[in-house]
Amino acid sequence: MKYNRTFNFSAGPAMMPEPVLEEIKEEVLNYRGSGMSVMEMSHRSKVFQQIRDEAEADLRKLMGIPDNYKVLFVQGGGTLQFAMVPMNLMKNGVACYVETGSWSKKAIAEAKKYGEVKIVASSKDENFSYIPDCSDLDIPDDADYVYICENETINGTTFNKLPNTKGKVLVSDQSSMFLSRPCNVEDYGLIWAGVQKNVGPAGMAVVIIREDLIREDLDPKTPVYMSYKTHADADSLYNTPNCWAIYCCGKVFKYLLNLGGLEKVQEMNEDKAKVLYDFLDSSKLFKGSVRKEDRSLMNVPFVTGDADKDADVVKASTEAGFNNLKGHKSVGGLRASIYNAMPKEGVEALVEFLKDYEAKNA
Ligand SMILES: *Cc1c(COP(=O)(O)O)cnc(C)c1O
Repeated sequence: MKYNRTFNFSAGPAMMPEPVLEEIKEEVLNYRGSGMSVMEMSHRSKVFQQIRDEAEADLRKLMGIPDNYKVLFVQGGGTLQFAMVPMNLMKNGVACYVETGSWSKKAIAEAKKYGEVKIVASSKDENFSYIPDCSDLDIPDDADYVYICENETINGTTFNKLPNTKGKVLVSDQSSMFLSRPCNVEDYGLIWAGVQKNVGPAGMAVVIIREDLIREDLDPKTPVYMSYKTHADADSLYNTPNCWAIYCCGKVFKYLLNLGGLEKVQEMNEDKAKVLYDFLDSSKLFKGSVRKEDRSLMNVPFVTGDADKDADVVKASTEAGFNNLKGHKSVGGLRASIYNAMPKEGVEALVEFLKDYEAKNA
């Protein structure tokens, strides 16, 4: 690689496409003749307004977002959305959550502060290694929404079929799978994603919300920043936004459009993940920790079954120039996050390394 960059398997912040970083590098001191960096620019300037508008337009094109949905750029990362969702969407004060791992547990804990949370399905019994059946959930009539974490970053599971919400609004945390495959936005009331997993730099979430879910009658103590209406009415420029993140994400949206859109991105991701999963399925030493049909294309946890050996592989992988392969402590073992920007060569090099390790340690 031209810049002697490492294959970074971090779960987030994670790799960004190298051509995008190149473009940013070109523009960092003087953005297109404006005489200044995007980091130094007024968010009220014409030149920034164009950056913002283009980012939104490109995202709309990429995902096919219908006109009756708003696109919001909100600070506070993913974690703030755990609170914003119940604060804004709990009208009756009842919500259904599917519990599939670490991130849905955090969302549940936060939502409980604002109302009644009903856990309608869970995979806790097998350490969140699968997606529970969500075809016939017991959803109360007064439920305001059904919430899922569509890709559990730590546990490595993905919903390949959305829950049957029985007519209720579906809310999805897509942080670690955002833009990894086509998405039919109309299936959801609200989609949100922290951008530092699969898109850009940390410090922002993209929220895609159906207009009729944007309310005015929130608890009057709701901080102004925490109301979706605030951001929707001001085109995400109510206060100073994370201009830098909007700019970088906009570049990634355009990059993905130029690649051929989300069908193409999915094809590349499937092709790339297959290299690793095929190896894990044939290995005698390593094995994937997730049920096959629920495997994530983005986050791949795997183990040897022996914690000391796992630690030794992590150490050897670091020495071999791979980064951030240590699994999360709640799952153990190793985890390779292979988001959109991870080149296939990175996965192939990792598999070569693991094969070699296995041969030497048989
Ligand atoms: C990382 C992550 C979050 C939290 O994001 P922060 O920006 O660190 O608050 C939430 N949900 C999922 C699925 C994640 O992967």
